[in-house]
Amino acid sequence: GARTWGENSVQVYSSAASEPKSERLALKNGLRDALTRGQLFLEYQPQVDLATRRIVGVEALLRWQHPVYGRIDPGRFIPLAEESGMIVPIGDWVLRTACAQNRAWRDAGLPAVKTAVNLSARQLRAPGMAARVMEIVGATGLPWGCLDLEITEGVLIEDLDANRKVLGELRAAGVLVSIDDFGTGYSSLNYLSELPVDILKMDGLFVRRLGSSLRTRPYAIAETIVAMAHRLELKVIAECVETTEQLADLDFMRCNEAQGYLFHRPLPAESVGALLARQAAGAAGSAPSPAPAL
Ligand code: C2E
Ligand code: MG
Ligand code: MG
Ligand code: MG
Repeated sequence: GARTWGENSVQVYSSAASEPKSERLALKNGLRDALTRGQLFLEYQPQVDLATRRIVGVEALLRWQHPVYGRIDPGRFIPLAEESGMIVPIGDWVLRTACAQNRAWRDAGLPAVKTAVNLSARQLRAPGMAARVMEIVGATGLPWGCLDLEITEGVLIEDLDANRKVLGELRAAGVLVSIDDFGTGYSSLNYLSELPVDILKMDGLFVRRLGSSLRTRPYAIAETIVAMAHRLELKVIAECVETTEQLADLDFMRCNEAQGYLFHRPLPAESVGALLARQAAGAAGSAPSPAPAL
């Protein structure tokens, strides 16, 4: 096509692999090396408590720095890792690394936060999952409530009986469970009464449509999600908050926590450490201040 053969090898390689299928295969095979050769790393997106505007948690997000293709989005390689089964050892690495980082922040005397880790279907179904998670958290000496497992609606309802058992075990120990991307899974609401969970993460799809002066149906749906969660004694975290207008709506709804580019992008661990240090020192946060009480 119109692709130029530049001086850099990235161009050359990606042209050679311009067949989507072969690039897919290359990435899929490359995932083994990614884990053993240290090409994977985590970024952490702060989660802000809306009542205080303080950082109370972080979501660990996996990144792959590929030697040839450069930085690859998890949206592209996680599905491949799921297909090949590599998501199980990779997921263990994510859990270990995220817990160790939480421990390191604590050991540095920084304010305690919880760490959210995304789990895929394959991990949840892996034999001995609950025991392995407990082993990992136990080994770092973190309180159980510091780990928050994010699982999408679709994955949760795939196998209600099995999930109820695994999540029940984890929650009995004190590990938190979140429903990720809530509201986008085309599932019945009935599973909410069937499954042990702690937090609803309202999908960015709803948040994106907040902040207009017209409080139309998208606003009503978001408001209803928050009210329903509270009625079920669940916390709500809003994802993808990008504007102060969206934040004002979420404040008004008494949404519990928020994350998004308005506050912070996913950051390297050191940057989160610096933010926590500043917070501990009582410096005014960069986050917009709370809306006045009603
Ligand atoms: P997710 O768990 O729903 O993560 C939220 C995604 O929204 C992240 O994308 C994050 O960078 C992005 N985001 C955060 N704030 C904003 C915002 O204000 N605006 C916009 N437009 N986007 C925002 P990311 O990092 O590309 O991750 C995509 C998905 O990949 C995640 O969705 C999650 O499903 C999956 N993923 C990431 N890390 C892992 C992991 O360690 N294990 C598993 N199984 N899946 C993971
Ligand atoms: Mg998530
Ligand atoms: Mg999400
Ligand atoms: Mg998502």
